[in-house]
Amino acid sequence: MPQDIPFDWLLRVSSRAKRPRITISVHGLVELVWPHRMPKRYINTMLNEHKFWVVKQLASIDIQHKDIIPPKTIDLIAIHQTYDVIYQQQKGRTRLKEQNGKLEIFGDIQDKEVLRHVLNMWVKKKGREVLSPWLEDVAEDMDVSFGQVSIRLQKKRWGSCSTKGNINLNAALLFMPDYLVRHVLIHELTHLTHHNHSAAFWSAVEKFEPDYKSNRALLKEYGQRVPAWLTSPFTHDLHKPLKG
Ligand SMILES: [Zn+2]
Repeated sequence: MPQDIPFDWLLRVSSRAKRPRITISVHGLVELVWPHRMPKRYINTMLNEHKFWVVKQLASIDIQHKDIIPPKTIDLIAIHQTYDVIYQQQKGRTRLKEQNGKLEIFGDIQDKEVLRHVLNMWVKKKGREVLSPWLEDVAEDMDVSFGQVSIRLQKKRWGSCSTKGNINLNAALLFMPDYLVRHVLIHELTHLTHHNHSAAFWSAVEKFEPDYKSNRALLKEYGQRVPAWLTSPFTHDLHKPLKG
């Protein structure tokens, strides 16, 4: 058996694989897929050649541990709710069911892109359920009225307000503490009267949110903590084809 390999790994002999490859699961499980026909005496060389690559990938999984895909739990901080996620491999279209504070996903759970899509759709739906009425409440407090609200999953913006008075909100706000959600809602609603970031805009914001400056800084901080599966493509399922 190979020497000096600084990680645990499993050998999977495959009759279908044409070339050897190393896969690293989201949980850091290293598997060497070895073509049935290839002599096993080359395994040692293969692992040695790629060990630094594997170690690097494992380290990046550690760093991004909180974002592990697929998520076992989803913590919607804004509404103080944590959902356990259960995955079930099944034939047919992949679908998600929310029941008793649990999410069950049935279908092709190996397909990470499909999983991501299903989860993102659920977050958007939750965003509509939660953020739309929330916006109405805050608008009432501020005594302003807006046109339409739409909930999206943008990569960079928390929200926006059009000159027609329509407001877009990012469903990722569900992963922020409630006072930061309110911070964004106040900001966008203030744009109904001030379509810019003038001094008048900020003093109008301050009227409803005296702490807006520190909250603005906190939002940047918290923004880093949005789960990776939410908006970015999967990067944690690492495959690298190896030269036979
Ligand atoms: Zn603004």
